[in-house]
Amino acid sequence: MRKTEYPVAIRNLIAQLRQMPGVGPRSAERIALWIVRARNDQPAQISRAITETRQAVHPCALCGFFTTEEICEICADSSRPTELLCIVEQPTDILPLEKTGAFRGRYHSLGGKISPLDHVGPEDLRINELLDRLDRERISEIIFALPADVEGEATTNYLVKLSGRSSERQACDANSYRPRPPRRRRVGIG
Ligand SMILES: [Zn+2]
Repeated sequence: MRKTEYPVAIRNLIAQLRQMPGVGPRSAERIALWIVRARNDQPAQISRAITETRQAVHPCALCGFFTTEEICEICADSSRPTELLCIVEQPTDILPLEKTGAFRGRYHSLGGKISPLDHVGPEDLRINELLDRLDRERISEIIFALPADVEGEATTNYLVKLSGRSSERQACDANSYRPRPPRRRRVGIG
């Protein structure tokens, strides 16, 4: 006799749910059975929320944080000092820093760190966007809040050199004269 299993549709659902972070086989099965047996439209609401969120949320054009507008809430906040810029690896690093309340400037997330072993080079990160901002915005201090591991350090060193070059270029341009290059500070996270 063949071993009885759930219908293919349920097995597929379980397999899909297992793609989610933190969902193991047991949880995936529990959630799938809840979805199938629910007597209200909650599963449909969840499905709609997933679709709508996926459609509406995208990276902020400036800092890379999550937003449904072109510019995120942090970048649009005119009460924040615009001369302080904190560079982070991922957009998910921004909220933990916000919660500490220690930093009130603005952010720039790179979307990763330089990692030759993982084939991630500078061109894969939001570095051109960063250089654009350094050219356009009057930033007097850059705070590097990248991870303290080898790749994080390498990325910081790379950006320190690059931002130095950018400010030299600025100083030569009479139209956008900047009295001095931005100060650079490193803080450890993670
Ligand atoms: Zn932003």
